[in-house]
Amino acid sequence: MSWSAEEERNQLREQDCLFCKIVHGEMPSTELYSDEQCMAFNDINPVANVHVLIVPRDHVTHLTAATEQHEQLMGHMLRVGARVAKQIGISDNGYRLAINQGVDAGQIVDHLHIHVLGGGQLDNLGTPRGSM
Ligand code: AMP
Ligand code: ZN
Repeated sequence: MSWSAEEERNQLREQDCLFCKIVHGEMPSTELYSDEQCMAFNDINPVANVHVLIVPRDHVTHLTAATEQHEQLMGHMLRVGARVAKQIGISDNGYRLAINQGVDAGQIVDHLHIHVLGGGQLDNLGTPRGSM
């Protein structure tokens, strides 16, 4: 028996995942951009003047879980990051795209996402905690 479209879609989401709930409209977000592959919204706890998240619609847990089949999606998400940066006016002065992978990087949501940070001078990239 073949899967229904609904069942097939559910394979691409995780019931208890925060970002799955946001991209499926079950939790609110301040949406800045949306297309068939990904969505951009403001981070609820910004660590820079501008802090946006680019989140794929499909549930991919980590960067290390991404496979060849995600290459197009991830390239697309980078371009959406650049597009959103332009849209919100931080492109000319510069910004940073970042992915936290795992515990040491501080990943807390296990649904792949790209942080877009900007709107002012940023800290040094990758400074070990407690070294400053
Ligand atoms: P990470 O540490 O890379 O897993 O980043 C997860 C990010 O998600 C953090 O910067 C959180 O502030 C952010 N976050 C958590 N809950 C929400 C939410 N409901 N809406 C927007 N951003 C959120
Ligand atoms: Zn998810």
